[in-house]
Parts: sequence; C-alpha cells; structure tokens
Amino acid sequence: MTRALDAIVIDAGPNGLSAAIALAREGFSVLVYEAARTAGGGFRSEALTEPGFTHDVCATVFALALASPFLKSLPLADHGLTFAHPEAPFAHPLDDGSAVLVHRSIAESAAGLDAVDARAYQRLMTPIVDRSEALMEAQLGPIRVRHPLLMASFGLKAIQSATGFAQRRFSGLRARAMFAGAAAHGVVPLEYAATAGYALGLLLAAHSVGWPVVRGGSQHAADAMVSYLRSLGGEVVTGERIDSLDQLPSSRVVLCDVTPRQFLSIAGGRVPAGYRRRLERYRYGPGVFKVDWALNAAVPWRAADCARAGTLHLGGTLEEIAAGERAAWLGDVSNRPYVLAVQPTRFDSTRAPAGRHTLWAYCHVPHGCEVDMTPVIEAQIERFAPGFRDCISTSQSMGPAMLERRNANLIGGDISGGAADLAQIFARPVASVTPYATAIDGVYLCSSSTPPGVGGHGMCGYYAAQAAIAKLARP
Ligand SMILES: Cc1cc2nc3c(=O)[nH]c(=O)nc-3n(C[C@H](O)[C@H](O)[C@H](O)COP(=O)(O)OP(=O)(O)OC[C@H]3O[C@@H](n4cnc5c(N)ncnc54)[C@H](O)[C@@H]3O)c2cc1C
Repeated sequence: MTRALDAIVIDAGPNGLSAAIALAREGFSVLVYEAARTAGGGFRSEALTEPGFTHDVCATVFALALASPFLKSLPLADHGLTFAHPEAPFAHPLDDGSAVLVHRSIAESAAGLDAVDARAYQRLMTPIVDRSEALMEAQLGPIRVRHPLLMASFGLKAIQSATGFAQRRFSGLRARAMFAGAAAHGVVPLEYAATAGYALGLLLAAHSVGWPVVRGGSQHAADAMVSYLRSLGGEVVTGERIDSLDQLPSSRVVLCDVTPRQFLSIAGGRVPAGYRRRLERYRYGPGVFKVDWALNAAVPWRAADCARAGTLHLGGTLEEIAAGERAAWLGDVSNRPYVLAVQPTRFDSTRAPAGRHTLWAYCHVPHGCEVDMTPVIEAQIERFAPGFRDCISTSQSMGPAMLERRNANLIGGDISGGAADLAQIFARPVASVTPYATAIDGVYLCSSSTPPGVGGHGMCGYYAAQAAIAKLARP
C-alpha cells in the first residue's frame, strides 16, 4: 500500500515553491502541481521577442528575495542562483535632463537631491537602515509585532500617505518625485494612507541589500528552488492545472498558491457559506500593461546617470505620478502614466546577444483594461530617452487579459494578488489572526493574497507552511 502524501501544493510560483521547501525541509512528503509548462510563476523567463534574448515574464528585481528571511536561509547558490547588481538600484529622470540616482549609499543618494533635502533624506533613512535586519523581518513577517518600539517608530511614518509624507519631509521637486516613484510600486493612489510605507520599504531595501537581478534571468531562481526542493525529496509536476480539489490525490494538507476567486472555484461546495461570503468581498486592484523589447542598442537616456541604474521610474514630478496612479485606481486611462522600467542587460550581458539589449516596462491601468498602452509607454520612455524608438528591434506587449491567460493568479492584470490599500494589507484575504488557514480543515492559502502580500519573497508560502506543519505535527 502506498503511503498518503503529507502535502500537496497547488502551483509552483515563488510562494508555492517556498511552502513546498519549508514542508520538505521538515521531512514531510510534498507534491507540487503547476498549470504552466515550466515552474516559477512570477519567476519565469522566456524568449518573448527574438531567439537569444531572455526576458523575465514578471519579476526581475530581486530586492525582496534578498530581504526575505526565508529565501536568504536557503542554499540556492549551490543550486545555480547568482545575482547581478546594478551600480545603483534606481534612477528617476526629470524633464530638465537630470536624474535622481538612488545609490546603495545614503550619503551619495542625498548628494543628488536639492541641498535643502539632502540632510532631511539622511536623517530619515539612516536610523531606518541602521535597523534594516529587524525592520525587513518585521515588514515581511506575519501580523504579530516582533520589535514593538522599532515598528511603532517606523509604522508612524509608513502609515502616512506618500504625497503627504513627501510634501512634509522634502521641499524640493527632486526628492518628492523620487519618493513618489518608489511609492507608486504599491499600485495604490499616493494620497491613500500607508503608501509612504511602500517607498520607505523599497528605499530601505535599496540601501541595505540592493535591487539586483538574477544572472541569466529570473527563471534561474525558480529552477534553483525546484532543484533544492527535489534534493529534499519533493516533486513538481508541470502542465497540470488544478480545477477542483477533487482532482488531487489523497494528502494530509493542501496549500493553495492562488487568489481567493480561484480558490472559491477550486474548492467549490466544500467552502462554508460564511467564509465564502467573506472571500467574495476580497477586492482586486488595477492591472498592469507590460511591454518587453529586444533592442539593437542600449536605451539612450538623456541623463547619463540613468545608465548606471537597474530600474527607472518614469513619470516626472510627484504631482504627475500621483495623478496617473489615481487615474488607474479610478478606472481611467492616463496618457502620461507612471512607467516602471528595468534594463537588466546593462549589467547582465548573458541575457542578449553581444551589443544588444533587453528592456521591459509597465504602467498601471484600470482593472481588466483593454487599451493598447504600447505607444503611451514608448512615448514616456522617449520623453526621457530621445531616440529610444530607433533602438527597437522587436517588442511584445501584454495587457491584463494576456497576463491573466499566462498566469491565472493575475486577475484582471492585478500583479499584487489583490488591492493592497490599508484595509487589505493586513486583512489578506480576510481579517483573521490565522490568515493562511481557510475554513476547510487542512486546506491553506499561501499566495500573495495572504500577508505580507506582493513580491518575490516567498514569505506567504513560508508562513502558510508553518500553519500546515503545526497541523501535520499533531497526532
Ligand atoms: C509584470 C510583473 C512584474 C513584477 N515585477 C516584480 C519584481 O521586479 N520584483 C518582485 O519582487 N515582484 C515582482 N512582481 C510580483 C511577483 O512576481 C509576485 O508577487 C509573485 O510572483 C507572487 O508569487 P505567488 O507564488 O504568490 O504567485 P505567482 O508567482 O503569480 O505564481 C502563481 C502560479 O500559479 C499557477 N497557477 C494558477 N492557477 C493554477 C491552477 N489552478 N492550477 C495549477 N497552477 C496554477 C500559475 O501558472 C503560476 O505559475 C511582478 C509581477 C508581475 C506580474
């Protein structure tokens, strides 16, 4: 008689793989089912444009992986994972032809701001970065407070709106714009409470661990996780979409790296009515429209400093970025949106043929938006890099519908696993002290629709696995 599996994990995104590894490390048998032909979810890479070019379909910047207490504890370097660091984490070009460059060093970053803001920036970031380890652990941890005084002091800043915080702390356009560009990663209007936290968290990562990319493409991170999982006895089956829990072989626990809407469909009639109603109230946020390019030359940024950064925040002033983010949230398409771009081949030449480059960029659009934003995104890049269009060899655009077809977790193009405004940062997927446990005994949620939310940190999977391990350990 074959022994029943201890755990099944629905899908091989970074959270699913983290959950599987956490379980396998404790000696439990684990089987992972993934719908796509390759494992990795948001860590997948493909030749999206031309042969010889490697593009990351989703995540490229691995700041949160380096900050992740779980991922950094894994021997993934032994399984082929290496990082390439840009000289500076990110740049924010402006219409005057200059750029604010955020370096690893706080002092160097401050030197690029208006004189009046240089001291303010150092005073803000130095105490935060001095306690980076504890703060990143607390930010990527579950709801319980580990370092109460530190978190209270950080929390009082993080809870503010990005626009309010930037306007009170900084006087000049440069620092305000840079702060808004970092905060806009949150895909929440910058006037909303807690959006300052997105900027502070990402600046903290920039100064303490950097914003690297995976050498050769993010797929190598997924492959390293799968290889390590297999070394622990776990298994991954790809090309197997799970539409119902009834499809699964017998196991003691099931962990679902899917969002609430998919979970309700997969679990069907097993979900008690009260819990179903609560999950049905879960809100999804704006989508993204992404373009990948194969380029014949590096992007000709007007501000030379932009060539030194891995990530670019394009959108000009705080006011302009805030207007674009508000529009996407309210269902309007902006013709000058905030554009987030990444240029990995500037510092990882393995991703393209010699002398040629890759670039990706996305902007936030209304949930499920069907407008082709390619020309708008290219115009924003051209604004800060005249001649960009002449460098394009091939491009591939993916709007919300195509993103969701490729990865069912990207509902309406929402890359955060659900709106991440203040109400849903903590109440993910419902307000509960045990957010990973569903109302079905032995079935857990472990996607970015659980705390701590979006990002390639694997912590949702790790914490869901701890809840499952507690059950598996009971006789
Ligand atoms: C365009 C884009 C850019 C991003 N950039 C970054 C970045 O630079 N840095 C960063 O930290 N984060 C980034 N993110 C966010 C990051 O990718 C996600 O937060 C992270 O991947 C979430 O991990 P997950 O395991 O919860 O889900 P996902 O990575 O989304 O994985 C879900 C997996 O589930 C599979 N699946 C879904 N339904 C089923 C089913 N029924 N049966 C079987 N399999 C199923 C899908 O095929 C997919 O493989 C980006 C996301 C996108 C979309």
